Amino acid sequence: MADSLELLVEHWVRPEIRALSAYHVADATGLIKLDAMENPYSWPDELRDEWAALLRDIDVNRYPDPLASGLVPHLRESMAIPDDMGVMLGNGSDEIIQIIAMTLAGPNRALLSVEPGFVMYKMIAGFCGMKYVGVPLRAEDFSLDLPALLQAMDETQPAVVFLAYPNNPTGNLFDRDALLQVIEAAPGLVVIDEAYAPFTDASFMTELGRYDNLVVMRTVSKMGLAGLRLGLLAGPRQWLDEFDKVRLPYNINVLTQASAEFALRHQSVFDGQTETIRAERGRLAAALVDMAGLTVFPSEANFVLVRVPAGRAGELFEGLKAAGVLVKKLDGGHPLLADTLRLTVGTPEENAALLAALSRLL
Ligand SMILES: *Cc1c(COP(=O)(O)O)cnc(C)c1O
Repeated sequence: MADSLELLVEHWVRPEIRALSAYHVADATGLIKLDAMENPYSWPDELRDEWAALLRDIDVNRYPDPLASGLVPHLRESMAIPDDMGVMLGNGSDEIIQIIAMTLAGPNRALLSVEPGFVMYKMIAGFCGMKYVGVPLRAEDFSLDLPALLQAMDETQPAVVFLAYPNNPTGNLFDRDALLQVIEAAPGLVVIDEAYAPFTDASFMTELGRYDNLVVMRTVSKMGLAGLRLGLLAGPRQWLDEFDKVRLPYNINVLTQASAEFALRHQSVFDGQTETIRAERGRLAAALVDMAGLTVFPSEANFVLVRVPAGRAGELFEGLKAAGVLVKKLDGGHPLLADTLRLTVGTPEENAALLAALSRLL
């Protein structure tokens, strides 16, 4: 029975899916969680009470508003989306990446990005049967290698280019003029993924409408609403109308719609938290720079990438974990990430615990 079941699965599951391993999420029980770029702050009690009262009156027996018409105006205002641009919501921006890939996939169609970059671009290209092209960043500072990128675009004619701005897992912003050249040279769509927008002043939102092939993706995850699963795509309606055909009609549930709208009506709470995280990022990076043996990469996001002494990433990762702090070990993934750890910025107390443990281990 088991044998034949395995054969059956092997026969029918597409080979490219069987070759993948599922996205691994580390168990963080009992640990200070500095591995996933979450906002470490929860909500003040009175806000929680008001929110709970609001949720009490939601009818979960009804399907959600397929257009989320109560929520979209708040998102437009909060993210300064130009009035003449369309908006499409996703169950996290991960779902939007998938919708774009499903819409543009086809035989010999490529999705291009840079490496090291956000891993979901490559994974989703795989599920959707797209060819994936990863162009290496410059090893010394993770900046764009513009000639290599232009050449790769010329050779592979990608249907879509995904670029995270700031980039994950490196934390830097790519050169703005280089990105504009990429947008101008790209034969297809360019998605600027601004997941870390709350932690930087740079954005391509104001460029929307100036290029036929530019769309901007955002999420509320990193600003403090990761549990709601809500992302959005802003851009010309001609693109978004097509993507909307692939979107499942009720992808944003009633609790998410109501909760996100509620949260955006209290935007100042999140702005305050974001400011604190930005200040803490500066303090954390400065303290790391002072530790012998570490290379600290500049960050415009809510995490800091560090290179530790050669060969010690595994031991330091385990040592931090034993000290109660979970970070992300990137060593062992992309070759340019050898000996690196990614540290999410936490509360002052969490960062102090991380720094104390790290300095002891080093
Ligand atoms: C975290 C992250 C996302 C995913 O965001 P969700 O909205 O939570 O799915 C997308 N892009 C980048 C670069 C990220 O780091």
